[in-house]
Amino acid sequence: MRRRCDMRVHQRFEHDRLNSAALATMSKGLCPLCGYRGFVLGPRGGVAQNIECGNLDCRARFNVLCVSGEVVMGHAIPRESEGGGSWPSAFHSGTFS
Ligand SMILES: [Zn+2]
Repeated sequence: MRRRCDMRVHQRFEHDRLNSAALATMSKGLCPLCGYRGFVLGPRGGVAQNIECGNLDCRARFNVLCVSGEVVMGHAIPRESEGGGSWPSAFHSGTFS
């Protein structure tokens, strides 16, 4: 049961894989959804880094792979409001209600 559920989550992530235009935008430090400059860093796992758009009206999240400052691969992950984890961050603390 659990394994099947995990696979479905994985497929969703595959579906949300960022295209080359989005990757190029993110390499410039811009959110591919809203164009805001700046991301909040979330948990890092191995070579992958979770980031969240710094625009409080967007807060889109991505799991990205950066090589030499270029975002070479990435996919969208759930926002905190969509069931994503809560990330400890000075940027976040006390700024939302
Ligand atoms: Zn954004």
